Amino acid sequence: MPDSLLLNHSSLPISRVVHIGDLALGGNHPVRIQSMVNTPTLDTAATVAQCIRLVEAGCEMVRITAPGIREAENLANIKRELRKKGLKVPLIADIHFNPKAAEVAAQIVEKVRINPGNYIDRRHGKADFSEAEYRREQEKIAERLSPLLAICKTNGTAIRIGTNYGSLSERILAKYGNTPQGMVESAMEFVHVCRDFGFQNLVLSMKASRVKIMMEANYLLVERMIESGYYLPIHLGLTEAGSGEEARVKSAAGIGSLLASGIGNTIRVSLAEAPEAELPLARQLVKFYARNAMCFPKQQARLSRFFSEQGLEVLKMQYPGLAFDELLIRSAVDFTLSHQKSRAGGILITNCQQTDDSRLTRLGQHILQALGIRHFRGEFIACPSCGRTQFNLIEELEKVKRQTSHLKDLSIAVMGCIVNGPGEMAEADYGYVGAGPGKVTIYKGKTAVLKNIEANRAVHALIKLIKTEGDWVEESKP
Ligand code: SF4
Repeated sequence: MPDSLLLNHSSLPISRVVHIGDLALGGNHPVRIQSMVNTPTLDTAATVAQCIRLVEAGCEMVRITAPGIREAENLANIKRELRKKGLKVPLIADIHFNPKAAEVAAQIVEKVRINPGNYIDRRHGKADFSEAEYRREQEKIAERLSPLLAICKTNGTAIRIGTNYGSLSERILAKYGNTPQGMVESAMEFVHVCRDFGFQNLVLSMKASRVKIMMEANYLLVERMIESGYYLPIHLGLTEAGSGEEARVKSAAGIGSLLASGIGNTIRVSLAEAPEAELPLARQLVKFYARNAMCFPKQQARLSRFFSEQGLEVLKMQYPGLAFDELLIRSAVDFTLSHQKSRAGGILITNCQQTDDSRLTRLGQHILQALGIRHFRGEFIACPSCGRTQFNLIEELEKVKRQTSHLKDLSIAVMGCIVNGPGEMAEADYGYVGAGPGKVTIYKGKTAVLKNIEANRAVHALIKLIKTEGDWVEESKP
């Protein structure tokens, strides 16, 4: 029995065995799967080829980065080539910092994603805003957003207002801090401008690399919608989930739990692996949970009641006969939902001897760690890479993980570009960020400590820095 998973395991009783069939739920709404290419947007042939592979793997809308006007313009070539090949998949332009690129892209693609944290506001190191300054900055939103709204209206283009925990504006940070509430307020400012303009072709998203923050921001967003009576579709994603089994557990816990609660119209699983590798999990999440989704908050109340009635402390979950892939998703989602109200702090997973105990133990550890309940190994935050990526992120992440995963009290971010990477690496203790072709800049917290290190020396430099800072421990041998 994998009892090493139990918190205070000697004193906590296993209160109840939950048969997942008890949670059969009704309702139905379609949920679409999105993915993102990581090819350079100016490389039309490579981007088209990757779009095709993604669609063949089950992707229903493809996001492509457009960092500048040239890339935005090249979306027309990519779209034309796809259509020539008979692919009608909707395209989404991903925009940061550049309203002009958004305005060009909006004339070409079906949807434009903008980040309210950097679409207009710029970072000046300002921590305080007077009421007048704050209002003036808000007025700028209407001025700068209106041209894009006009173009989108004319062309029937949708807009996703995509808030990221790591890239809120200084103005929002000054008022709300780096919080789920700040994330919601950041998006709502843009929503109000859109409403005043009579533009409703909107989708909202609240993404973070930590499951709890991502979920809390989405619940807050839904509460705001319920209060206002103004409902908009929601896109779900857990950013920078990293790679491997722990990334799949985190993604299932965050996205799956929200889908099971009836929240979410489109989803993206974001792994630091080949883009096609995201699709099997995304498809399973939709298959298992989208069909169960019903209108929030009715289902949420039902689930909460179910679990709180049990007084669960250690949750034992049985999945007789379930294959491991499905068991991973089911257990991550079920535990996440139960933990919201019952504060379950331990987990025992069984599937009637079909899977060996050590694998189930590791899965339980991933789940507890994904929810921040207990740490068993280092935490890795890694972006999925995109057309801005400056190095081989998948290889670099694996190199970093190999050397540092035993540092269970540390979080390390491996990010693909210097433009968004440092902002989006959450509160990672160390950052390992692509700074140019074959170059890495290493951060301690938010401070760049070692700049433009050759990639082949960068892991060594990271370890040296961790030792210098006194955060290194030697790996204990079994
Ligand atoms: S942090 Fe990663 S995914 Fe985000 S823009 Fe940079 S390279 Fe792309």
